[in-house]
Amino acid sequence: MSSFDDFDAFEAASSLSARAMAARPSPYLDELNPAQREAVEALDGPVLMLAGAGTGKTKALTTRIAHLLNTHKARTNEILAVTFTNKAAREMKNRVGRLLGQPAEGMPWMGTFHAIGVKLLRRHAELVGLKSNFTILDTDDQLRLLKQLVQAAHIDDKRWPPRQLASIIDGWKNRAWTPSSVPAAEASAYNQRGVELYAQYQTRLKELNACDFGDLLLHMVTIFQTHEDVLQQYQRWFRYILVDEYQDTNVAQYLWLRLLASGHKNICCVGDDDQSIYGWRGAEVGNILRFETDFPGAKVVRLEQNYRSTPHILAAASGVIDGNKDRLGKTLFTDAQDGEKVRLIGHWDGEEEARWVGEEVEAMQSGTRGMRPFSLDQMAILVRASHQMRAFEDRFLTIGLPYRVIGGPRFYERMEIRDAMAYFRLVVSPEDDLAFERIVNTPKRGLGDKAQQTIQRTARENGVSLKEGARLCVEGGLIKGKGGAALRVLVDGLDRWSRMTGEAGLSHTELAEIILDESGYTTHWQNEKTPEAPGRLENLKELVKALEQFENLQGFLEHVSLVMDNESDDGGAKVSIMTLHAAKGLEFPAVFLPGWEDGLFPSQRSMDESGIKGLEEERRLAYVGITRAEEVCTISFAANRRVFGQWQNALPSRFIDELPEAHVDVLTPPGLYGGGMGAQSMGSGIESGLEDAAAAANVYNSPGWRRLQERSSQRPMSQPRESKNMVIDAAAVSSHVMGDRVFHQKFGYGAIIGVEGDKLEIDFEKAGIKKVVAKFITGADDVPF
Ligand code: ATP
Ligand code: MG
Repeated sequence: MSSFDDFDAFEAASSLSARAMAARPSPYLDELNPAQREAVEALDGPVLMLAGAGTGKTKALTTRIAHLLNTHKARTNEILAVTFTNKAAREMKNRVGRLLGQPAEGMPWMGTFHAIGVKLLRRHAELVGLKSNFTILDTDDQLRLLKQLVQAAHIDDKRWPPRQLASIIDGWKNRAWTPSSVPAAEASAYNQRGVELYAQYQTRLKELNACDFGDLLLHMVTIFQTHEDVLQQYQRWFRYILVDEYQDTNVAQYLWLRLLASGHKNICCVGDDDQSIYGWRGAEVGNILRFETDFPGAKVVRLEQNYRSTPHILAAASGVIDGNKDRLGKTLFTDAQDGEKVRLIGHWDGEEEARWVGEEVEAMQSGTRGMRPFSLDQMAILVRASHQMRAFEDRFLTIGLPYRVIGGPRFYERMEIRDAMAYFRLVVSPEDDLAFERIVNTPKRGLGDKAQQTIQRTARENGVSLKEGARLCVEGGLIKGKGGAALRVLVDGLDRWSRMTGEAGLSHTELAEIILDESGYTTHWQNEKTPEAPGRLENLKELVKALEQFENLQGFLEHVSLVMDNESDDGGAKVSIMTLHAAKGLEFPAVFLPGWEDGLFPSQRSMDESGIKGLEEERRLAYVGITRAEEVCTISFAANRRVFGQWQNALPSRFIDELPEAHVDVLTPPGLYGGGMGAQSMGSGIESGLEDAAAAANVYNSPGWRRLQERSSQRPMSQPRESKNMVIDAAAVSSHVMGDRVFHQKFGYGAIIGVEGDKLEIDFEKAGIKKVVAKFITGADDVPF
C-alpha cells in the first residue's frame, strides 16, 4: 500500500473549517482536581505526569484526548495514544466516548506499541525488505528458526541453548540495536557467535517475509532514522502523542516516540517509577526520569491524591514499596474511609489456597463477610506466575464459578490451534516456511525427515519458498510413492485455498472449515482415539467461531499474534484471573493476591538473575498488586506448593514482613479448626499436618509466620461444615443412567452420554466430552456446595 497518497488526502481533508468550529462546553473538566486539570488543559508542548498509583494519571490522559477532540485541536486520526495492553486501549476508547457523550469513532492510532507498530510497518514493509503481508512469528516459531541456525553453525545447542540466543536477540532489539549496531562490548555473547547469528536470523526472517515482536518497533525506528520523508509525514500526521505507563518503555519504544515527537513536541507521558515492572524485558525507568532533559521546558505535573484505594490499602502498599532504595519517593493521601484492613491468610498448600479463594469469592459475592456484596466482575485474582492460574481455574471449574483469564493467549497456544493456524498462515502468506514445516507432515502424510530434507534442499537450491520447493519436488518426481502423492495433494490444496481467499460468496470462516477438512486435519483428530481428541475437535470448532469476528483470515492472524487478552467471553459477570503484570493500570474493588511465598514472590529467578535490582522490581510488582485494590485486598501464602510437578516447602514472602502491622488483619486458615474443605481433603490430621509441614519448611522460624501467629485474630473464616462423601463407589456405574446430570471434581458438571466398562463418557459443560472413571463422578444434586 502506498501511504503517501493517503497522507495528502488526509491532510487536505483535515480542513481548517473543522478546527475553526466553536468548541463545545467541557463539563468533564469539572471532574478533575486542579493538578489534573492543568495537565489536561496544557494541550501544546511536552507534559509529564509522574505520580503514584491511583492518582488519576490515566484519567487525566483520557480526558486530555477528549479535550483535544472536543476543542477541535485534533481529529481522531491525528492522535497517537499508546497504552500497554489491548484491554487498556479498549478501556481508554470507551472512556473517551463517555466523556464526550458519544462513541469515539475511529481512533485508529490508539493501541499498544505492538498493535500500532504492525500497522505502520505494513505500510512501509518494503523499506526494510519485507512485503506488506509479512507474518508475525510467535516465540515458538522464533525458537525453531534460531535452532536451525544454531545447528547449521555447528554450535552445541545443549551448551548454548537457542532459547538463550532468543533472549539475547530480544534484549538487543529492545535496545534498538540492529546486527550492525550491536556494540563491541557485546561481542562475547552466545559463545562469541551472537552477533553473527543475529545477522543470519534477520536475513532469514526477510526470506520468510516475517518478523518477530521486537522487529515491529525496531524496523520502524530504522525506517524513521533512514527515511526522513517518512518520519516527517508521521510527525505531521500525529499532531498529538500520549503515552500511558511511560515508566515501562524500552529504548526502542522510547526512540520511536522521541523521533515522532521531535517536530511539534506535543507529547504527554504519564507514569510512576514505583510501577516499573518490565525491566526484565528491557524497560528503562530512566526514560521517564530524563523526560525533562529530552523535552526542555516540559510541564511536569505531580498528583498526590489517590482516588482508588482505602487508607489501609494505601498504607500497606506504601509500607512495602518503602523497602526500595532506588526510587524518587512520593507521598500519597486519600480522602476515602478507612474500610477493611489488608487481609492476610496462610494455607497448607496451593490447592487449599485455591479452594479457600473460591469459597471466599462466593461468600463475598453473597455479602456474608460483614462487607457489602461484591459482584464477580468486581473481584480479581492476581498471580505472580501464570502456572499459579491452573489451581484456580480447576477449582472454579469444579464449583462452577464463572471466571475469565486475562492476559495470555492461552487458547491460541494449544497444539491443534497452532497447527490449524499454520495452515491459515500458509494460505495467506505462501512464503511462510515455518508454517509449512509445521504442517507438511501434520497430519501424517508419509513425508518423513528424508522427504522433508529433499524439499528443503530443492527450495534452497532454487531460492524459493518451501511450498514452491515442494511443488518442484512433485513436478520433478523427487519424492516417490505415497508421500509424493500426498505432497501433490497438499501443494494443490494450498494453491486452491489461496485462490479461494476473497472469492465472492465464500466467507473466510467457510474457507477455514474447507481448509481444515480438505487438508485432512479435522479427520486426523476424528480418527484419533486418545482421550483428548474430542477436546481438540471442540477447540477447532471454537477457533472457527473466533474467526467470525474478523473481516478476513489475515486480520484474524494478526489479532492472534497481538492479543494479550482472552477474548472469548459471553458477557456475563466473571471473576478475573491474571498475572500481576497484566493487571497494570487496572483496578478492582476486591483483589486476591495469592502465592506470597519467597521464591515464588519475590521470584527466585528474578533475584538470581538480577540481584537487588531484581528484588526491587519484584517489590514494585507487589506495590502494583496491592494498589489494584479499591476496598478489599487479600494476601495469601501456602506452606507447600507443587511447582512443575515437584512439592516445595515455602516460607512466607519477605514482602509479608514489610506490611505495616497496623493495617493488616490476619485471618485464620479454616483447616486449623478441623472444618472446611481443607479437612475434608487432607483427612483428619489437618491440624498436625499443617504443623508438620510448617515445621518441615522451617516456617516457624520465619518472622512472617511468627507474626502471623501472634496477630491471628482467631476469626475462623470458614464455618465447619458437615462432611459429605463426594465419592461414589466404583460399583455404582450401573446406578448412572444415560442423560444423568453429574459432577466431576476436575471437569465440573456434565451429562452422561455413554458407558464403557467402569468408565463413563460425559459431555462436560465446560470441559467438553471426556471419558472418566465412574468412581470420580457424583450425581449433580449430591455435590456438597
Ligand atoms: P495507575 O498508576 O494504577 O495506572 P492512575 O494514576 O492511572 O493509576 P486512574 O486509573 O486514572 O489512576 O484513576 C484511579 C481511580 O481514581 C479511577 O477510578 C478514577 O476514575 C478515579 N479518579 C481519578 N481522578 C479523579 C478525580 N479527580 N476525582 C474523582 N475520581 C478520580
Ligand atoms: Mg493508569
